Amino acid sequence: MNPLFINTFEAYGDAVRYRSSGPSNAAKYGAVGVMVRSQASNTDQHPHTGVTFYNAAFPKIPAVSISTAEANWLSELLQHKDVLEVGFTTHCKMENDTLSYNVIGEIKGNKFPDEIITVGGHLDSWDLAEGAQDDGAGCVQSIEVIRAFIATGLRPDRTVRAVLFMNEENGAGGAQAYFDSAIAKKENHIFALESDAGGFTPRGFSVTASDSQFRQLQKWLPLFIPYGLYYFKKGESGVDIGFLEKTGAALVGLEPDSQRYFDLHHAENDVFEAVSKRELELGAINMAALVWLVSKYGLN
Ligand SMILES: [Zn+2]
Repeated sequence: MNPLFINTFEAYGDAVRYRSSGPSNAAKYGAVGVMVRSQASNTDQHPHTGVTFYNAAFPKIPAVSISTAEANWLSELLQHKDVLEVGFTTHCKMENDTLSYNVIGEIKGNKFPDEIITVGGHLDSWDLAEGAQDDGAGCVQSIEVIRAFIATGLRPDRTVRAVLFMNEENGAGGAQAYFDSAIAKKENHIFALESDAGGFTPRGFSVTASDSQFRQLQKWLPLFIPYGLYYFKKGESGVDIGFLEKTGAALVGLEPDSQRYFDLHHAENDVFEAVSKRELELGAINMAALVWLVSKYGLN
């Protein structure tokens, strides 16, 4: 990942193609296997996994991620040797799809129960670890929005749903099912907020919305500044709520500080102990505040 990007998500977006389409591109030139340098922003011993797409026009060759430290070592060896022999063995396979579920908790709105606000993260994770930052953090924060309303005795005017989406990492089947159900039930979705960028110190909100919705959100910025958030900007929201764009709902993604996320994204060090309770709670309570404002004033 190019370290010159300040926001590591941009560096990830720039580098992820080497994993996602590298194997087929290499097979095109006769490669028999591929070792990909992990998309990670630090140097350590953890391989980082993730989606790989095969192009059916070329042989489906085995591909592995190696840690950044090992990639550096391999690169060093290649500079000093004319011929270098490496080998690897893989034991991976795709299992068949199986039935699974989104998990949904809801507080019915006091005044406008048919206007729905979704706040969510994703329940699944890659197999290397428990996925505490990606995206246990977003799940807990979404539950926390509901819990905070109950704990403070605040009843929202509009319906608020915490949704833990299943299958974000491998096709977003849960998000698709949630959207399909919204259409089938003719639900009125006005707003969705996603947290899927880690439970780090919150910095701002990224917004996919109409100009008028965006202006309304931006008017609330002074309320967030004392809590460490300093922007609403137009941009992407999140994979799981992205489907709801077609309903006309305004979509917002929580943007935490990105500097450490790709140290553990899709790797075995993405564990509970790597989450800061204070940072996680600060994100959750800013999410709750935004959901509360939309639940009270709506969005036009
Ligand atoms: Zn995620």
